[in-house]
Amino acid sequence: MLSEIAPPRFDVDLDLRYATPDNLTGAPIYARPLCLLHADAVPYLERAVALAQGLGLRLRLFDGFRPVEAQWCLWRALPDPLYIADPRRGSNHSRGTALDLTLAGADGVALEMGTGFDAMTPLSHHGRSDLPPEVQRHRALLAGLMAGAGWQPYPFEWWHYQIPGAETYPLLADSAGGGKMMAK
Ligand SMILES: [Zn+2]
Repeated sequence: MLSEIAPPRFDVDLDLRYATPDNLTGAPIYARPLCLLHADAVPYLERAVALAQGLGLRLRLFDGFRPVEAQWCLWRALPDPLYIADPRRGSNHSRGTALDLTLAGADGVALEMGTGFDAMTPLSHHGRSDLPPEVQRHRALLAGLMAGAGWQPYPFEWWHYQIPGAETYPLLADSAGGGKMMAK
């Protein structure tokens, strides 16, 4: 039900922040840098990859499937439901139907998006007209190609997209993805 998203099958860059200390909790949550998506989301990803390729760009993925256990780690670090789904209600990441990502150029450099991934500030919201034009253009590129591939945006995070009906899929624990969490 969950598919691993990695080259060479998928022409994407992986920058899986929850397998590193470079995330909002300041510590790795995943022991293994594994990106998984629900099989139903894979065609959406493939369309987005193709659209990016046509523009000379690559998708750079920050996170896909996020076990319910990992959602609890994020919630404990930042219990703000605007940015972090309450684990009791469930994140679409924990259903394998959401993806966090940015774009990188052919030179391998990520496009400037105005804030980092997981920057939980109003500047991360869509529809900002007060960011530099280049940043607005980059966000519009990402939003346009993701929409063209059928993904739906989340208004408060420029990096987060999900498939239609994302919330209708069941929440999954770490064991559903073969286990990638840090041992506690
Ligand atoms: Zn997300």
